Amino acid sequence: MPYTAAPTRYDAMQYRPCGKSGLKLPVISLGLWQNFGGSRSVAEVESILTRAFDLGVTHFDLANNYGPPYGSAESNAGEVFSGALSPYRDELVISTKAGYDMWPGPYGNGGSRKYLLGSLEASLKRLQLDYVDIFYSHRFDPETPLEETMGALDAAVRQGKARYVGISSYPSEQTKTAVEILTTLGTPLLIHQPPYSMLLRRIEGGLLDVLGRLGVGCIAFMPLAQGVLTDRYLDGIPSGSRASQPGTLGAAQVGDHVLDKVRALSELAKRRHQTMAQMALAWTLRDNRVTSALIGVSSVTQLEDNVATIENLTFTAGELDEMEKILTS
Ligand code: NDP
Repeated sequence: MPYTAAPTRYDAMQYRPCGKSGLKLPVISLGLWQNFGGSRSVAEVESILTRAFDLGVTHFDLANNYGPPYGSAESNAGEVFSGALSPYRDELVISTKAGYDMWPGPYGNGGSRKYLLGSLEASLKRLQLDYVDIFYSHRFDPETPLEETMGALDAAVRQGKARYVGISSYPSEQTKTAVEILTTLGTPLLIHQPPYSMLLRRIEGGLLDVLGRLGVGCIAFMPLAQGVLTDRYLDGIPSGSRASQPGTLGAAQVGDHVLDKVRALSELAKRRHQTMAQMALAWTLRDNRVTSALIGVSSVTQLEDNVATIENLTFTAGELDEMEKILTS
């Protein structure tokens, strides 16, 4: 049966303004870095994306190299964007990025105008879209003048191939310069995408202040520390989990040094009538300067668990103190 979006899709989700822009993002956004590439069927990808949309998740985050193999997450998502979700294009915020290695040779990596604009063309083909809503420079490239990289983002908007622009994992200093350049060009920086979770709090050291002061949105990637800040690893490493496969989460990252903290945090989550994942997501959203928590999932069940975070986003000062003690113990 053809997909029809749930009429209730906007009833519960909360949306926050992205910096000082007019664009609002759901507090939970869905990223397709892992679990949406070559090993997944389009039907599986569609079931997760449509369930997300039914729950008010309007923002889907991609990059040229998400898969594996590179490009396959965009290709799978493209089948859904041009199929089940095509009637809803104006209700969706779809992003993609370029910055890491994508194709061989000197023009398939980094921050050059040649790479960024070439990659965006290829992403649009895979995504089967005329434009993306946000086009990101995936990382700062010290070998390319920032003026060139920002000029490429500006050009993407002027060509009608992106609505807004973003940067990811840029340090504070380069973020400030990027904002200045983009403001001069007339394409304000919409959003920054840094990593942020209870286990990785670098942005509290200055970047979040910069973003707040300059009115740039912040979407926190890896808010569950790739699954470590959930109940996934409390009884060992399950087969099929991210840590059980070669890739980005090594067994060393799920040792008792961290799981003891997660166990203690889980007790507090229970008292808050939340799952560990929900408490970890609510924590990243406790500061309004964080526009959205950008999650990954491998199933509809995980997605539903994570979206239910919106039922309790507040913490008492005592709870935050208790978490701080556990995290710094
Ligand atoms: P998370 O920290 O949200 O980890 C996701 C993983 O956690 C899932 O794949 C799953 O692991 C596990 N998980 C999720 N929900 C639950 C739950 N409720 N219960 C138990 N386990 C759960 O984020 P990701 O690392 O996936 O990154 C999210 C997104 O951030 C990416 O898709 C991408 O869009 C973006 N990102 C951006 C980067 C950048 O450089 N800009 C870099 C990295 C990510 P399992 O698969 O084992 O089931």
